[in-house]
Amino acid sequence: MTPMNLNTIESQVHARIDAMRAEIIRLTQDMVAYKSVNPRFMPDPENSDETGVQDYLESKLNSLGLPVTRWEAEPRRPNLVGLRAGAGGGKSLAFNGHIDVVPIGDLDGWNHDPWGSDIVDGRLYGRGAVDMKAGIAAFIAATEAIINCDIALNGDLQLHIVVDEEAGGFAGTRDLIARGYRTDGVIVAEPTSGLIDAAEGGLSWLRVTIRGRAAHAGWRFAQIYPQPEADAENSEGVNAIEKGVRFVQAVREFERDWALSRQHPLMPPGITTINPGVIVGGVGLGDDGLPQITSNPAMIPDICVIDFDFKYLPTESFDDVRAEFEAFVSAFAQTDPWLREHPPTLQWHLSNIDFPPFSTAPDHPLIDAARGANRALGIETVLTGKRAVTDAAFYAGAGMTPIILGPAGEGLHGDNEYVELDSLIDTAKVFAGVILRWCGVAEQ
Ligand SMILES: [Zn+2]
Repeated sequence: MTPMNLNTIESQVHARIDAMRAEIIRLTQDMVAYKSVNPRFMPDPENSDETGVQDYLESKLNSLGLPVTRWEAEPRRPNLVGLRAGAGGGKSLAFNGHIDVVPIGDLDGWNHDPWGSDIVDGRLYGRGAVDMKAGIAAFIAATEAIINCDIALNGDLQLHIVVDEEAGGFAGTRDLIARGYRTDGVIVAEPTSGLIDAAEGGLSWLRVTIRGRAAHAGWRFAQIYPQPEADAENSEGVNAIEKGVRFVQAVREFERDWALSRQHPLMPPGITTINPGVIVGGVGLGDDGLPQITSNPAMIPDICVIDFDFKYLPTESFDDVRAEFEAFVSAFAQTDPWLREHPPTLQWHLSNIDFPPFSTAPDHPLIDAARGANRALGIETVLTGKRAVTDAAFYAGAGMTPIILGPAGEGLHGDNEYVELDSLIDTAKVFAGVILRWCGVAEQ
């Protein structure tokens, strides 16, 4: 296809999307009205309406003539994959969006009904408006416009519409990938205000367990002051909490060294944090990996468990950072006679939290396709790095090439969440432009 043809076809699609504006906004409003709070965050999970959104979207995709595969990794939590099969010979593309949302929080903070889809001054308000039902509406609209313009694509186009992103993706994208879905490129339509997130750091939760020796706290005096032999014999407690505190301080030094010595051009300096988020000390290691007695300060605790949120750079491998951290823990243990004999134990991927990193090259053809799509609309292309983690991680972990690109708005995970309607429409046009360039337009 000549560039001239592409320009003509793309203009037709853009005009089609403009003509669909009211319909696209309606689609987003309808989605926001379903209370699809992630059931893992609900006291009454059976009241989540993830099924309602997915029923609605399944019939929407069917109305466009797209075959839909639907399944539930957990009861009443359906995932959808819509397919526009290509004519062959082109690259395949998937869009990803999650229909689960976080709870609304304190209703008093909202000036709009969180499920009301109010539109005021060009903004559509509601929980999930920008995170990320608008992104889903944008890629469905792009697909619909291409279909309505009778454009056949070379490569397959897949629409991955999932649950459970907000709680780790287990019943959603992770399950989808485990089922074998693979495409040459992936766009995760999380809100980015039109910027392209081309990199995301890796994340693993890590549990460090430090063992001491339990004793009655009444004998602690014998560890503070040298005592005659009889008392010293009873002073053999080793306080695991105090060892744990020393460890946390050492990790902080290590974290600072890492921050100073490693950077990624799209990430803020210092992003490789190792946050101690949970610490539990007490006596007697239980089967659940936690101390069994946590309410008796008259004991010298023999267990200290510290859970870390462990982040690394988009370009690093998990195996490398793990090896480096484990070497640090060994060196730390050597500084203490007790820990030398009883080194801390490490449990990586705690709670199965494990987000592989990605770093898509600035000159990758997928980013070039987005650049071209932006240029056609007079939008400047800006590459950034994602601070948080998203479902893009799981595509990267399976060897696919993702970027994150979506509309503008505010209030995600907070009050008065909204999406900007102009951005919603622009995002649909950019998505259409990427599809045309990446999948390729088939000769008619
Ligand atoms: Zn999101």
